[in-house]
Amino acid sequence: MNYEKILSEIAAEIEPLRTVGKQADYIPALAKVNPDRFGMCLATVGGDVYEWGDVTERFSIQSVTKVFSLSMALSYMGEELWRRVGKEPSGSAFNSLIQLELDRGIPRNPFINAGAIVVADVLMSVLDNPEADYLAFVREICGDDTVDYDREVASSEREKGYVNAAIANMLKYYGNLENDIEEVLRFYFLQCSVEMDCRQLAHAFLPFADRDRAFLFGDVRLTYSQVKRVNAIMQTCGFYNDAGEYSYLVGLPDKSGVGGGIGAVYPGRYAVATWCPRLNSKGNSVMGMKALELLTTYTHESIF
Ligand code: GLN
Repeated sequence: MNYEKILSEIAAEIEPLRTVGKQADYIPALAKVNPDRFGMCLATVGGDVYEWGDVTERFSIQSVTKVFSLSMALSYMGEELWRRVGKEPSGSAFNSLIQLELDRGIPRNPFINAGAIVVADVLMSVLDNPEADYLAFVREICGDDTVDYDREVASSEREKGYVNAAIANMLKYYGNLENDIEEVLRFYFLQCSVEMDCRQLAHAFLPFADRDRAFLFGDVRLTYSQVKRVNAIMQTCGFYNDAGEYSYLVGLPDKSGVGGGIGAVYPGRYAVATWCPRLNSKGNSVMGMKALELLTTYTHESIF
């Protein structure tokens, strides 16, 4: 497969979308990001890397981080985790409060905010040093120990994080948060603030595509079957209320974030990351979605 050629064809074809959508401005620090960026990196399980555009500029991975926090929690808790959070697509916005009330404090899945806040709480209860341990895992999985939190983004999000604070309060009300609300929120926002570039993100997703190497990073170990399940949840829940549309168009397990990043896997073959800060109304990167749609169309490589 000539991925290099395909990536440059994709880049040319998505060019008309350059000005479509806008960056997340409900997090003040993200509103300042230059929206006119696009990068794409595809890393194969065999070790080849193909890139296009702004692949070495770091961005806030935001909800893409939820794949790493879920992996960590699943490694420590196993199936017990599902007593605290569901694994059904939500069909509603990533920060829906109404749904959480109807579900009496059990979030639909770990990729909406409510679910990720519960996962952050779980990690706070099991890790000795949640902040340091989480970062150590993220660095291990992408194989780069320069990856870090962006504390300015995290505190900027806390400042305006009214809905997430409401979600955390409701979780506490229903008995689904063990730790202090403010501390859980602080940890959740820090996780979201992790910065990576496309190259690092593609490598961080590679273990979810690689069927031959054990998923083992420090203490964090997932069985083949658990990796399969994380991928399944990415497929059904990774794009919130865009998940059906996204599956229809692309057909790869992936996770998006409001920083404009997307991490995707083609199981057995490669991981791919895209970044463009311009989002659609559901908080997903416009150019990134189109680029991945074209990738599976041109390569005929999709899980369907
Ligand atoms: N930190 C963001 C929030 O909680 C993450 C949302 C996202 O990337 N979809 O709102």
